[in-house]
Amino acid sequence: MADKECIFCKIANGEIPSATIYENSDFRVILDVAPANRGHALIIPKEHFKDIFDIDAVTAGKLFSLATEVARAMKSVLHCDGMNIVQNNGIIAGQTVFHFHLHLIPRYEGDHVDLHWAQGETVPTELQELAKEIRKKI
Ligand code: AMP
Ligand code: ZN
Repeated sequence: MADKECIFCKIANGEIPSATIYENSDFRVILDVAPANRGHALIIPKEHFKDIFDIDAVTAGKLFSLATEVARAMKSVLHCDGMNIVQNNGIIAGQTVFHFHLHLIPRYEGDHVDLHWAQGETVPTELQELAKEIRKKI
């Protein structure tokens, strides 16, 4: 169901124009208006899902499958050296548009995109215990 107030519902369904690079019945792929790098693209489902906790697995699967095709097409046009796939969920994680979307961020040698974090430390027994807790819920 489209959300009347949601900008990505309007973009995905064509009510607001965008630089569209691909569209099918489930998704629209657009160029980001404020790109991290040249060619930064977004895959947006036409249906309104807030985030990873809301989207269904079938749609998410189709979306990632499409991402492989879009990524290859982008690489062939942009001649990027690499690509980051980013997907933010929640304000704390940097989400600003609360309609699920996948970022495809082309990377170029010498660019200034920064997606790094400091590597933490672990205790092996605690890691195993935590893995067990989460495993039980899947
Ligand atoms: P996020 O911070 O993960 O929610 O990403 C939202 C992204 O949407 C940002 O990279 C914005 O630049 C982009 N964005 C917001 N409005 C538009 C728009 N009208 N057309 C294209 N991209 C947009
Ligand atoms: Zn929406």
